[in-house]
Amino acid sequence: MEEISEAALAYYENGSEEQKQLARDFFNSLDEDGNGTVDVHEFIKILSEEGHGLLNNSRFFQELDRDGNESLDFNEFLTLFYIIKSRSRPFCAGCGIFLKSLFFSCAKCHESSDETFDLCSACYRGKRFSHQHAAFLDNYTLLAHKRLITLGGKGQPNTSQLFAGFYIPIYKKKDQNSAIPIC
Ligand SMILES: [Zn+2]
Ligand SMILES: [Zn+2]
Repeated sequence: MEEISEAALAYYENGSEEQKQLARDFFNSLDEDGNGTVDVHEFIKILSEEGHGLLNNSRFFQELDRDGNESLDFNEFLTLFYIIKSRSRPFCAGCGIFLKSLFFSCAKCHESSDETFDLCSACYRGKRFSHQHAAFLDNYTLLAHKRLITLGGKGQPNTSQLFAGFYIPIYKKKDQNSAIPIC
């Protein structure tokens, strides 16, 4: 959770006053008894009311509660806020764990579907999933891939090849200045 918490804090510090107020309002709505922290009962009650079914469990609460004092202070809460607002961190479709570091995502669903299909490294490696598409990219490679699709041109990989099966995208140099390193 370390990296995600760092990201959440960085976004908050760089946010507008309006965004910061939004975060504080959400925190206050979770903190029903107004004691300045959110306990697991408040957490589960509000998240189920708001329809965040996957986040709504004590295991995930413990992940957020980094100092282990059984309540979330504002900084710990910001991690939750970031996860909900950015929708950037999914759960593994194989084993259901929260994907807090590297994960794999179906490239086709990522580009053309409302729902992404995501897997932890262990489930992807062990083929512990069933899905109609076969091409998966890790979250870092996905970002590089998206950039090349946006830029277009010769650096763009052949997408029919991408969706045909196992594929690690290897980008050719367009010219000296636009070389993208191969992961
Ligand atoms: Zn998994
Ligand atoms: Zn898919």
